[in-house]
Amino acid sequence: MEIERDTGMHTRGGVITERNSDFCTVRIRLPAGIINPQQLSGIARITKKYGAGTAHLTTRQTMEIPHVKIEDLEKLGRALEANGTPVGAEREEIVNITACPGTDRCRLANIDSIGIALETDRKYFAKNMPVRVRIAVSACPNSCVSERLCEIGITGVQQPIRNPGLCTGCGTCVNFCKEGALVVKSGDIILDRQKCIDCGNCIHICPFHIIKGDPPAYLITIGGKRGRHPKAGRPLVTVTTIEDLHTVIDMVVTWIYRKAWDGRLLGDQLDEIGFDTLKKDVLKRIQPEHVVSGPEIP
Ligand code: SF4
Ligand code: SF4
Ligand code: SF4
Repeated sequence: MEIERDTGMHTRGGVITERNSDFCTVRIRLPAGIINPQQLSGIARITKKYGAGTAHLTTRQTMEIPHVKIEDLEKLGRALEANGTPVGAEREEIVNITACPGTDRCRLANIDSIGIALETDRKYFAKNMPVRVRIAVSACPNSCVSERLCEIGITGVQQPIRNPGLCTGCGTCVNFCKEGALVVKSGDIILDRQKCIDCGNCIHICPFHIIKGDPPAYLITIGGKRGRHPKAGRPLVTVTTIEDLHTVIDMVVTWIYRKAWDGRLLGDQLDEIGFDTLKKDVLKRIQPEHVVSGPEIP
């Protein structure tokens, strides 16, 4: 019987050759790490049929199927496609996009992180790039998906503002702020803008509704990295509308595609490829009233 040979699957980004090069691990496209029961059952079935009966959960909210024989790759790829969980990406391309639960579930969330991740996946997943590009979305600066350590990070922020009314000086908000940005002075609340990171967490805590919030906004950071020498991404801009967010992501993806060099992480070449010029171009493109100053998260 003729063995069906793989004709190109092993060149796909989501297919990783193992130590024993007769086998591959196949990573799945799973934006925001969301999977339904049918797809889960399908993965279990596919894993038994083409792998060694186990799946592995990755750090970037996807799954991979280890120990797949080279000659089974094509069939496995078709089975994964039919299951709605196609082969993923892992090379110089836009890889699985991650998100925290956001406004869907988390009481601290400022933005719909899952919705943003799904839309970004739909537009850019597996786009060939000169460097590997990880995109992650956290709905507040608690950064549960470590977006600041990704090439493109999106963080939901919200600036607190003082609402007219009588502060009782009860200190509830002061105890709640993890940054020490709120103090009670002479029975009134004072906000230290230098310390505040716009997490928005205090906004809902005041029993007398003295603290309100500006509309939630999107902080975009560029060039974060993990690995041997981890580094937080550099803040590019904070914008107030979802349309502006997608415009900026589009500009950043195009900029990386055109300017970045292969063989190095994006975070190691930001200055050489013109981060400051990108920032100026972004600020020219976005209406000034849609740009928020700060926050400067250390
Ligand atoms: S990053 Fe913030 S909003 Fe997202 S899950 Fe963590 S605490 Fe909640
Ligand atoms: S927004 Fe966050 S950091 Fe700023 S004062 Fe409120 S709790 Fe503190
Ligand atoms: S702002 Fe609200 S929670 Fe904070 S001290 Fe005043 S009354 Fe208390």
